[in-house]
Amino acid sequence: MTGDLLDFRAALLGWYGENARDLPWRRTRDAYVVWVSEIMLQQTRVAAVLEYFDRFLKVFPTMEALAEAEEDAVLAQWSGLGYYRRARMMHKAAKVVVSEYGGRMPETAAALRELPGIGEYTAAAVASISFGEAAPVVDGNVERVLLRMYGPELLEASGKAAAKIFRETAGTLLDSQRPGEFNQAMMELGATVCTPKGPVCMVCPVRTHCRTQGEHATGPAKPMRSRRVGYVLMVKGRGAKMEVLLQQRGNRESQMPGMWELPGVPEGLPDAAVLMTVRHAITNTNYYVTVYALDAVKRRALKGDAERMQWVRVPELEGFALTGLARKVLKRAEVL
Ligand code: SF4
Repeated sequence: MTGDLLDFRAALLGWYGENARDLPWRRTRDAYVVWVSEIMLQQTRVAAVLEYFDRFLKVFPTMEALAEAEEDAVLAQWSGLGYYRRARMMHKAAKVVVSEYGGRMPETAAALRELPGIGEYTAAAVASISFGEAAPVVDGNVERVLLRMYGPELLEASGKAAAKIFRETAGTLLDSQRPGEFNQAMMELGATVCTPKGPVCMVCPVRTHCRTQGEHATGPAKPMRSRRVGYVLMVKGRGAKMEVLLQQRGNRESQMPGMWELPGVPEGLPDAAVLMTVRHAITNTNYYVTVYALDAVKRRALKGDAERMQWVRVPELEGFALTGLARKVLKRAEVL
């Protein structure tokens, strides 16, 4: 990197002060709130998190409230946000914080890392933003900014693992007087200016420090896989008495164990009326989902175990840990 470190920090922090998006979790340094936001933001778009963040904090406003909740109630608030392991681990961590730390988050990155579900990234984010520890944060955005600033040589010379190089480089750049703001500024730069497909170098506050000015492309996106699946929407009754048939996933399922979904049917059900088709993406798989209507399907055609099926009154659905796909279908069908 050319230029001076102090100039770099001043340019980045000045830009962040002027241009940072006004996001609700940036209005506080409360460690519980920062932690919730950082867990929600993992692998999830800001726009999606905005829908959930306020609602989650209304239901679980404190560490104690989260620790005392039933797991199903936590999953119900997470329903649709995906990567449900995050919610389960958060719940476990809240119990540990209440039982071992009196409900207050530990204040160092090292201690935070001991909690369930908190890795290097989250520990550094909470420790720097809430407690002012000079811990560098490295997420996908920061990695991309560093790679473009220094060029591919950054990872080639030393023989060290890439993660270690990124962490050390981010640590060298970090402003130890304002670590929380600096970390957020680096991530914001990657999210809004030094974006994956088209970095906007013309407006970049650190372009004079950048070796590649966008020449270094990041790798091509992973190709998406496709799967076709079928579900059935069965309802009975009307108004507040309307009920929907749901099926609970097994506790040993690798994805979304214990959550509630619509009963599955074999794809291409003969003579069945198609209610809707939906595309639903989970990680790198596009699910092309056909949803069949109640009266077109014989109950025995349903896949799965009858013991796992349950009629649920519509007003009670909000308390159920629905999968994102089930929630999407129920909303489109105007049941939710
Ligand atoms: S100049 Fe361009 S490539 Fe370099 S950090 Fe800024 S936006 Fe990214």
